Amino acid sequence: MRLFSKKTFAHGVHPPEAKEATAGLAIRRFPFPPSLTIPLSQHIGKPAVPVVREGEEVIRGQLLAEPDGFMSVAMHAPASGIVRRIGLMPSASGKMVPGIYLEPFPGSSQEVPDGAGVDLESATADEIIAGIQAAGIVGLGGAAFPTHVKLKIPEGKRCETLIINGVECEPFLTTDHRVMLEQSDDIFMGIRYLMKLTQAAKCFIGIEANKPDAAQHLQDKLPADLQAEVEVAVLPVKYPQGAEKMLITALTGHEVPSGGLPIEVGAVVVNVATTAEIGRLLPVGQGIQERVITVTGPAVKKKGNYRILIGTPLRFILDEVGVEDDIARVFMGGPMMGPAVSSLDIPVVKGTSGVTAFTLREGGDTPPKEYPCIRCAYCVDACPIFLNPSQLGLLAKNGEFATMAEEHHLMDCFECGSCSFVCPSHIPLVQHFRVAKAAVRKAKAS
Ligand code: SF4
Ligand code: SF4
Repeated sequence: MRLFSKKTFAHGVHPPEAKEATAGLAIRRFPFPPSLTIPLSQHIGKPAVPVVREGEEVIRGQLLAEPDGFMSVAMHAPASGIVRRIGLMPSASGKMVPGIYLEPFPGSSQEVPDGAGVDLESATADEIIAGIQAAGIVGLGGAAFPTHVKLKIPEGKRCETLIINGVECEPFLTTDHRVMLEQSDDIFMGIRYLMKLTQAAKCFIGIEANKPDAAQHLQDKLPADLQAEVEVAVLPVKYPQGAEKMLITALTGHEVPSGGLPIEVGAVVVNVATTAEIGRLLPVGQGIQERVITVTGPAVKKKGNYRILIGTPLRFILDEVGVEDDIARVFMGGPMMGPAVSSLDIPVVKGTSGVTAFTLREGGDTPPKEYPCIRCAYCVDACPIFLNPSQLGLLAKNGEFATMAEEHHLMDCFECGSCSFVCPSHIPLVQHFRVAKAAVRKAKAS
């Protein structure tokens, strides 16, 4: 185990970590809800295509929808039950999206039958990629990018370094922390698949220094066959250390160029919970039915790290854990990068690593009053990729989205929220950038 005390990225911020309430709580299974709502698109790319009919009975783990092309992943039944409806349902984005309403059978065994596994010894790189797509695996750290797409190394490129991202720098969340403590065998099996697939010479498991038990546990459990290539790397605590580009810089010293992908500097980054799912599911040929989610925040009574079925509505989760009477705002994820939800009818999806709820007492109902920019440049000093959020904010106010993208690298912004966090004028910079990026994408597509 190595302490990467000096190697870190420039800028960044130090929000309160707020992880102590759940970091020591073991993962527990969450009750099954009476109804599941399963969006067909829980990932970046094309929605999956249903292969079941309304009224059909399905068993847990059965394929519900197949990928629509390479930029898409499969969807599996989170529980045995009956398909009640296939139609529109609310989503975290506020839009109605197509999905499957599934009513679980309360008395069913809910056992998941094994499928055709991917044999680690004999499988080719393409077979491992196909297995990951068939298992419906996406980035579980929140990005929900189809993992098999990220792992397809482009012609002429080479992966030198595989980075397993166990940083979990988002305040409040302890999902990855608990997975590292409780699923080390799955993580190491996932690394074996990933090393074989990428042919990387070196693998780092990057962990922030605020999780010393997880780092020590993985170091102690590191299997003999991985010891030559795999290194547990402990990094300084700084937000957003867990962002891909920041992590690559901290561990390899390389900077991913503006608009570029990690593979351009010979790196591939995979979230640690995603790695554990690869290691858990591929050998037995199963798909994702559930995931570990931290349910926390000042408004939550029974905080914890829970294994929750995909498609479980937020309302059911909050009813089960109990909430304070003055609950005011709920985030899908943590408060820095997670979107605030507008409806508790939306379900948790594969990319949901946390549910964080705040009360009125933390000022959760209304955003603080916004003042004009005072040109203090705190936001410039905070931005980890050296953008000028102050300038971008002024352009956003005037609707000059094209200028933001063409002259000020708007599309490099990965919405970490560091600029908003430090702004003394409470300007919701990151919200402006989300809107601007969406407008630029829409204009490009039309
Ligand atoms: S949200 Fe975007 S502009 Fe603001 S600090 Fe993060 S990367 Fe920089
Ligand atoms: S931190 Fe806020 S007030 Fe300061 S320069 Fe940036 S946008 Fe302006």
